[in-house]
Amino acid sequence: MSKNTDLPRHLEINPSEIEATISRLIASNTKEIESILEAVGEEPTWNNLVAPLEELDDRISKVWSPIAHLNAVASTPELRKAHDASITKLSEYSTEIGQLQPLYSAYLKISQSSAYAEFSIDQRKVIKDAIKDFELSGVALPLDQKKRFGEVSRRLSEITSLFSNNVLDATDDWVKEIADVSELEGLPDVNIALAAEAAKSRGFDGYALTLEAPSYLGVMDHVENRSLRKEVHEAYVTRASDVGPTAGQYDNTHVIDEILSLRRELASLLGFSNYAELSIERKMARSTDEVLSFLKSLLDQSLPKAQKDLQELQDFGSKYYSLESISAWDIRFLSERLRTQKYSVSQEELRPYFPLEKVLAGMFQVAESLYGVQISSSEPLDKWHEDVRFYEVRNQGVLVAQFYLDPFSRQAKRSGAWMADCVVRREIGNFLQLPVAYLTCNFAGQVEGKPALLTHNEVVTLFHEFGHGLHHMLTSQRFASISGINGVAWDAVELPSQIMENWCWKRESMRMISGHWETGEPIPDALLDKVVLAKNFQSGLAVLRQLEFGFFDMAVHSSPGSIDIFKVIEEVRKSTALVPPPDYDRFPWAFGHVFSGGYAAGYYSYLWAEVLSADAFSAFEEVGIFDRETGNRFLTEVLAVGGSVDALEMFKAFRGREPRIDALLRHSGLK
Ligand code: ZN
Repeated sequence: MSKNTDLPRHLEINPSEIEATISRLIASNTKEIESILEAVGEEPTWNNLVAPLEELDDRISKVWSPIAHLNAVASTPELRKAHDASITKLSEYSTEIGQLQPLYSAYLKISQSSAYAEFSIDQRKVIKDAIKDFELSGVALPLDQKKRFGEVSRRLSEITSLFSNNVLDATDDWVKEIADVSELEGLPDVNIALAAEAAKSRGFDGYALTLEAPSYLGVMDHVENRSLRKEVHEAYVTRASDVGPTAGQYDNTHVIDEILSLRRELASLLGFSNYAELSIERKMARSTDEVLSFLKSLLDQSLPKAQKDLQELQDFGSKYYSLESISAWDIRFLSERLRTQKYSVSQEELRPYFPLEKVLAGMFQVAESLYGVQISSSEPLDKWHEDVRFYEVRNQGVLVAQFYLDPFSRQAKRSGAWMADCVVRREIGNFLQLPVAYLTCNFAGQVEGKPALLTHNEVVTLFHEFGHGLHHMLTSQRFASISGINGVAWDAVELPSQIMENWCWKRESMRMISGHWETGEPIPDALLDKVVLAKNFQSGLAVLRQLEFGFFDMAVHSSPGSIDIFKVIEEVRKSTALVPPPDYDRFPWAFGHVFSGGYAAGYYSYLWAEVLSADAFSAFEEVGIFDRETGNRFLTEVLAVGGSVDALEMFKAFRGREPRIDALLRHSGLK
């Protein structure tokens, strides 16, 4: 079998040519689809219809993936403009194809043909998914409604892009100059060095605090000065809103209203009573009621622990900081101090044991022990920033996948951490296209001659994204639409990522991934034990916060009519926020997961998949966390199958039974 390892050429992407390139591709695809339909005639088959269409889709995605990626990690005004304009064109194209009646009829015909009975399971899943996609694109609607559906989809793609642009701009816009280092008392050296470099890069002396994650979290976790914490917190929770230091400048208020109203219209055109119902169509959960009762039961089970967590924090705050009541900007700070006192371990104390290089080497060793793959660093064809790394994944010496890692935060790079597909695995006759992934994180880079050192939280994040990467890269699927994370129910897609986090908490694996940056000494057992003991510290409050996001997301997407999102979040917080947030808190205004990412009426997926991942990991706990047989079963029944089987069937094939919530409650200390 011949292989294609063609990689995108990021540096050759010229913003001024993007729109024309995309238009050309769309035009040529549209023409080819016409010819395909002509050739198909009355006898559509896999080879004359499905295979050539996949080829056309893949052609676009290979061009588009690197453009979308660059726009997220190395944005420029020109690139953003070209990206946003092209998104509109791509949305129009995808609606047009999704509503092409002759294409839909051809797929239906295949599904009713005698040949279909002979199809393999994966082929049938491809056909079934495609038919559902046509239906959810409004293929069956009357002409005027089809047209409206197209307009709504197009506007949605524009406006969700505007939402994330606003968040990025609001994040980048705010900076706090600090002249005297004494104002930063409590802040660890690494953060101080970071702040000094941020100031230098902006052309002033002293220190710069920004809203990029390492800077923001550093202040919230460590700075003694309460009013400084409050100021930074306010800037952060008012990003892209009508209040706060950049009030009205990047305001998402009307953007959110429009997004929700368009989604409602889309759902209603397709005959659903709200957008959440439409979203659930492609999920493992069977109904919105099932989701809500899942969230509700988890709320009941975490409340007692959360109340205890808060009481402990309040007692600590009043005893050591004379605080009568705790405010939102105290929670992380007090937690970090209390953790240090209670377990004599802080995130900062752990940092020296986790130099990025060592963590990566150890993480690859974990993957090798579990799945038998070898990962080695290599020279990429090109890179969009000097920090970017590139790796090759081999199985018994044979190249199976490649990935980029862009680890550090910087300006013009979207916050958070994520995996995105660059090239998807597929087989075409004798030809194999290898998968390529992008892993993106926002860690603090190296400062003051020290290598980049991660907190343990960041190590967990890296493992999480790597888990998504393995799902994308270790797939064995032949067809793009069900390969890797494609075609996987969204609420099950966090299973491979969340399960990986577990190897950040076990002695055997911690020895592999830790090594003091000066001495090379792995994290001492005594320190490790404290880390593990502290794992569920404040876990009740943490679960409550996730529930708040989940309930809010379901509420705004379940409403049949227009709503005031501020009222919605206030209502949700009555049961989830034990510490009332300040009036100006506009968290939803920057909630990219549900307003510009793929998590609309799907944020609950994190908790839902946590049930799956905790239960799946308990299979390892029963026999040993590096048990090869169990690792192999996870590889073949979960990672390799991609979207070729139903999520519940996939889980049962690995675990031998339906998922149970016990492991999650135990792992997170709720029970
Ligand atoms: Zn994830």
